Amino acid sequence: MINLKELEVWFVTGSQHLYGEETLNQVAEHSRQIAATLDASTQIPVKIIFKPTVKTTEEIYGICQEVNQAENCIGVIAWMHTFSPAKMWIGGLKILQKPMLHLHTQFNRDIPWATIDMDFMNLNQSAHGDREFGFIMTRMRLNRKVVVGHFEDEEVQKSVGIWARAAAGWFDWQGAKFVRFGDNMRFVAVTDGDKVEAELKFGYAVNTYGIGDLVEIINQTTDAQIDQLIEEYHAAYTLAESLQKGGPQFISLKEAAKIEIGLRTFLQQGNYKGFTDTFEDLHGLAQLPGIATQRLMAEGYGFGGEGDWKTAALVRAMKVMGSGLPGGNSFMEDYTYHFEPNNSMVLGSHMLEICPSIAKGKPTCEIHPLGIGGKADPVRLVFNVAGGPALNASIIDMGNRFRLLVNEVEAVEPEHDLPNLPVARVLWKPLPDLKTACAAWIYAGGAHHTGYSQNLTAEHLQDFADIAGIECVLIDQDTKLNQLRNELRWSEAAYR
Ligand code: MN
Repeated sequence: MINLKELEVWFVTGSQHLYGEETLNQVAEHSRQIAATLDASTQIPVKIIFKPTVKTTEEIYGICQEVNQAENCIGVIAWMHTFSPAKMWIGGLKILQKPMLHLHTQFNRDIPWATIDMDFMNLNQSAHGDREFGFIMTRMRLNRKVVVGHFEDEEVQKSVGIWARAAAGWFDWQGAKFVRFGDNMRFVAVTDGDKVEAELKFGYAVNTYGIGDLVEIINQTTDAQIDQLIEEYHAAYTLAESLQKGGPQFISLKEAAKIEIGLRTFLQQGNYKGFTDTFEDLHGLAQLPGIATQRLMAEGYGFGGEGDWKTAALVRAMKVMGSGLPGGNSFMEDYTYHFEPNNSMVLGSHMLEICPSIAKGKPTCEIHPLGIGGKADPVRLVFNVAGGPALNASIIDMGNRFRLLVNEVEAVEPEHDLPNLPVARVLWKPLPDLKTACAAWIYAGGAHHTGYSQNLTAEHLQDFADIAGIECVLIDQDTKLNQLRNELRWSEAAYR
């Protein structure tokens, strides 16, 4: 999984020569201290790199060029300590290809009431310097995140950190490769879409391989590799009796391990960040990958079932954004409802492929028949998921654009045992309530597949959508159905 501390955000301060050398030295010193404070903040997962103040059209253009080319630079924080006439920024902003956060802050928290004079005013004027900068970005219709407040404020640092995570997810998508084994499930609409447009818009490529190409790699697996992996299974999970050595289905566990090893090898050799498969195209595979997919997701690979490449890519991005935070991110599907009055909820799951990064406690490793696909019984990890705030996110292809939907939910600890349910599952109550949330989701065209997150918030995904330049529809505590339906109508016009 990606280590966010290897990534850099550059802290760039704007000014001009009008103020003279002494003032500019103070500007640089203040910027250095702000950048160092942000760099040291536990809220911000990436490095914050101080850059010298830019004071001319040429210096601004130059730093934007450098940002574009710097390999580990995922974005820029811009701050206008003093007044930086914004026509100087046009050329640079026109070529800037990485995400921007406009930090509207100042060096001093408080006004020094007893000593403030005109020199102080001239040095500390971001209150209007940043407005000039804001105008030009708005005039140029450029997306950015604006964060307001003193740089030592915990909330400010948190917002910067959230944006940095979104920028890291975006950075990870650029040039990323996802592999589809087979096509998407026959006749299904929402899991399909325009892969050319996705590569243009999102920067990742999705290409297909026949399942036979994977089978060939799987068949090169050695017994020693399989034995070693089965030991790992023993250490990490509670194995069903029939799957243990000498048990009647031990052979199936060996098959599952063999698939996992082959799949991982295939992904590593091709440098893929995620994959899809489909139960309709398993020729040569003994069973649908269950535990293999679950464990690969836990390692950081994106996954979408039934050829759902958009969700595979989204799950990967969510894993990168959530890297290092407690809790996990998983592929998910809205499966079935509990319609009890005043206690309505959704049971989320999939046929097999829920990521153990969201598990509560030690998963059990089980084997059960799968009603579809016509293959041998697949091995899977079964677990419950803890209660608490979470969200579901989905990207759909609207034909002329992509739309990201986010629904905040409250996960609920299961009150009942589910002894006959052979898959990992999550219970949640969508916000603001099940009826409103599900109607809103359906009006907005949200998929049945989602990325489920325990550690990301709507702000992460909103920032991510802004960076990607796509529409974001949020369904949360404040959602009113009529308003949301109007928002969808207006967006239709806005994105025409
Ligand atoms: Mn599905």
